[in-house]
Amino acid sequence: MKTACYWTENTPKPAGIAVSALPSEADVVVIGAGVTGLTAARRLADLGKSVVIVEARELGDGASAINGGQLNYGLKPSLKSLTKRFGPDVTRELWDASLDAVDLAGRIIDEDGFDADFRRCGAVSLGYRQSGLESARAESADLQADFGFETTVLEGDDLRTVIGSDTFAYGVLSEFDAAVDPAKYNFGLAAAVADRGVPIVEHCEVRGLYQAGDVHFIATAKGTIRSDDVFLATNGYTPQDLVPEVRRQIVPIGSYMVATVPIERNLLDRLLPGNRIFWTQRRFLNYFRRSADDRLLFGGRPDLSPDLDLADVARGMQESIGRIFPELAGVELTHVWGGKLAATFDLLPHLGRTDGGVWYAVGYGGHGMGLATYLGTEAGGLIGGAADDGPFLGLPHPTRPYYRGNPWFLPAAGVLFRNLDRIGR
Ligand SMILES: Cc1cc2nc3c(=O)[nH]c(=O)nc-3n(C[C@H](O)[C@H](O)[C@H](O)COP(=O)(O)OP(=O)(O)OC[C@H]3O[C@@H](n4cnc5c(N)ncnc54)[C@H](O)[C@@H]3O)c2cc1C
Repeated sequence: MKTACYWTENTPKPAGIAVSALPSEADVVVIGAGVTGLTAARRLADLGKSVVIVEARELGDGASAINGGQLNYGLKPSLKSLTKRFGPDVTRELWDASLDAVDLAGRIIDEDGFDADFRRCGAVSLGYRQSGLESARAESADLQADFGFETTVLEGDDLRTVIGSDTFAYGVLSEFDAAVDPAKYNFGLAAAVADRGVPIVEHCEVRGLYQAGDVHFIATAKGTIRSDDVFLATNGYTPQDLVPEVRRQIVPIGSYMVATVPIERNLLDRLLPGNRIFWTQRRFLNYFRRSADDRLLFGGRPDLSPDLDLADVARGMQESIGRIFPELAGVELTHVWGGKLAATFDLLPHLGRTDGGVWYAVGYGGHGMGLATYLGTEAGGLIGGAADDGPFLGLPHPTRPYYRGNPWFLPAAGVLFRNLDRIGR
């Protein structure tokens, strides 16, 4: 088994997109070459701004090229809690944005004409306990009544039409949800941005941000570049001290995936009929899908830590696969890998500008494929002067007292979440 990402092994970073020399100035410097940074740069370039993207490592080394590739509807907090916090109008705007995020990814792929295996395949969220069925039905009815959004609650034989497993009590199918190949999406975006004349400078870690009047000076591993604006798009990889105000809003969390050997096609057709994408309704959730070459790609968060031993992770995933699909018990794994996403204290993504004038968009939880596309594009419009408002701008960005970006509470939170999962709360 390799400790390597299945996606980027199959779609390696294309040659000739990144450059090595750092220009001396730009209208906007974007820090981080994941989906957030690339979509912001795309929008800014379309608005006629000169943009430079600086990336600490290489294209594809953040979370954006290596994830589950699921584009799901909605936001992490429940619509009830959002309505209570912000009222119905803001909640409606956020809801609409979450749907537009999925559509936007498809539109960008079409407009820029690259292939990312975008499929409107539908997603099924899987509930373990019969006791959750009633609230799943009520939630589905509310979504239909309040937002006109259709989901179907499946149980028994109906559930068997989407998954060949007896582990789950019910599933909630959303035909709206989509899947991409994340490596193709990340690299396709990078090529589209490079085609617009944006230099993407690799091995160019930003080490300090300074301001003199209206000018920003960005100190990097390759020298200093000056710009009118700076956009921080570093999400789960945001360094501790670069922009403390942003780091205090996010908690980096590990997420991990494995790929199995190719599985006999008839068996896979029985286990995943309809080729949907799946996630389980737990805090320590699993997510899975079929690959184009008939593997099971299976992911999850066995713990909140971003630094787990990958061999342990693989063993745990293999057991989870066997529990869900007994026919695959002990299935050979070929790849294991992991990356970092960023959670926030209110479970919403955060877009804003610090007191020091640094723009940022971070904190998508496990929903970053669509939302990073949306917030990156929104940030590009704001920075480029094409918009002065957007659904995520102006939302409060909570942190916690004494939190300076070192998540000392993760082990305790992990124990709590595991116990809540165990008792089905
Ligand atoms: C295993 C895994 C599975 C996931 N599955 C899904 C899924 O199925 N669906 C979904 O919606 N979301 C999923 N996510 C979350 C999703 O991948 C992220 O939310 C999204 O990719 C965030 O994009 P981003 O561009 O903001 O950050 P990233 O793609 O993480 O990019 C941030 C970049 O910033 C760079 N950087 C950091 N510091 C500096 C610095 N000082 N100077 C320069 N560059 C710097 C990093 O090197 C990195 O390349 C998953 C995440 C993981 C790890």
